[in-house]
Amino acid sequence: MRINFGGFIPISTVDWPGRAVCTVFLRGCPVRCDYCHNRDLQNGEDYRSVDEIIDLIRSTRIAVSGVVFSGGEPTQQGEALVELARRAKGEGFLVGLHTNGVYPAVISDLIAERAVDRIALDIKARWNRYDNLLREKYALAVKETLKVCKTAYMQGKLPEFQVVITLFRGYEDEVRYISAEAEGVDLVLQQGIFGRVRPLSSDELREIADGIGRPVIIRTREEGETRYEGNRIGRSSGERQR
Ligand code: SF4
Repeated sequence: MRINFGGFIPISTVDWPGRAVCTVFLRGCPVRCDYCHNRDLQNGEDYRSVDEIIDLIRSTRIAVSGVVFSGGEPTQQGEALVELARRAKGEGFLVGLHTNGVYPAVISDLIAERAVDRIALDIKARWNRYDNLLREKYALAVKETLKVCKTAYMQGKLPEFQVVITLFRGYEDEVRYISAEAEGVDLVLQQGIFGRVRPLSSDELREIADGIGRPVIIRTREEGETRYEGNRIGRSSGERQR
């Protein structure tokens, strides 16, 4: 089986907060976010064998405890991703996934095989704005992924799950809609950075969190990752913006 490969980081302390991991980037994404920080991975071809990728992962064993699959959109290569995750687990690695959620069947397969330990799911807008924003019909698919992940998380079949909102000035109102959908799971407010739009500051993101009245994880370029629980703030490690 061949993988459209996008890159490899042998040691990352930001892709799975609290854990040293290696990160495998898979090439290709059906979505075209204007703010994408990995644009060069949206297209192109660099096919490698599963064995080659597993060798890369295995080579980091001494320094890391897990592997994160990111992209691009790793679930676009569903069969190959499941094979990689299954084999990485077999090698004793924990497996994390960064996803936009547009391929729920792949997420279901990973969970059914217990081949994933952590999922970070990007939700980009309230459902009735989704398809317009992404210029494709993705809302139902992402909704389904959220349901699958939440159910697995509640049932203990998915050890870690978080919903990530990349937030831009002018779109602050989206948070309360997405927060309602993400009840019962960790919610990350990630500072969106795009062009000349002034990014929301950590203080502004904390104010937004106060407005929805729930603990959140705030992620900014300036402060890394901060767990915010109202007037009590504790720090954790940062995570790279997708
Ligand atoms: S931000 Fe994520 S979903 Fe959007 S184009 Fe980039 S890889 Fe795809």
